[in-house]
Amino acid sequence: MLYIVSTPIGNLKDITLRAIETLKLVDIVAAEDTRQTKILLDHYEIQKPITSFFDHNQRVKGPRLLETLKEGKSIALVSDAGTPGISDPGYSLIKLAQDNNIPITVIPGVTAVITALTLSGLPSHRFVFEGFLPPKTVGRCKKLTSLKGQDSGTVIFYESPHRILKTLEDIQKVFEDPYIVVARELTKMFENVQKGKASDIIAHFIAHPPRGEFVVLLNLAQDND
Ligand code: SAM
Repeated sequence: MLYIVSTPIGNLKDITLRAIETLKLVDIVAAEDTRQTKILLDHYEIQKPITSFFDHNQRVKGPRLLETLKEGKSIALVSDAGTPGISDPGYSLIKLAQDNNIPITVIPGVTAVITALTLSGLPSHRFVFEGFLPPKTVGRCKKLTSLKGQDSGTVIFYESPHRILKTLEDIQKVFEDPYIVVARELTKMFENVQKGKASDIIAHFIAHPPRGEFVVLLNLAQDND
């Protein structure tokens, strides 16, 4: 059995009872970041073999984990933070297990996209999650322009501290200084949500250099729902 287990995105208490039970019962934990997962397991006094499964080893590691599953062992797949498969390498193992008829189940929990949407105050009954925008300005502006004019409700992006300013500048340009929400360090000690015109938020991050993890949201609904 492959268990897809959601883990916290900051606050270690944001984990479900089922997730803890599952991490205790499986044979192996496959983790995107073994050090991060060790901190979580130690916190809950769970002793389990942890093996790595991340972006750069997934092609080699996926088939090995599949063999382990075929031998009848159980694996919990966890990501660095949040729900495996949401903008992280979890997807490829889930697909591989599914294509090989391995029983799969999910232990749902927190994910940054829904946490940010809930806190943003933006309409949440219709939304589009775009994951990470392209890293370079040309690709990013092209992607943003393709979203312009689409009646897609609230649009949500993940962003890193290195690129957040450039991304906000591109959003300001393409959408003509829209109202945006930037959620930072959700569930952590320095959780902070900035709301306002893109130009004001850019000015804020010039004055306070961005650190941590970010989710950017804006509403593209044409009827302002
Ligand atoms: N699987 C994760 C999830 O369920 O949200 C997302 C993994 S993705 C590789 C990492 C990105 O998620 C970060 O760059 C950031 O955009 C977002 N993120 C994760 N934790 C966050 C937090 N505590 N606050 C704000 N954004 C966060």
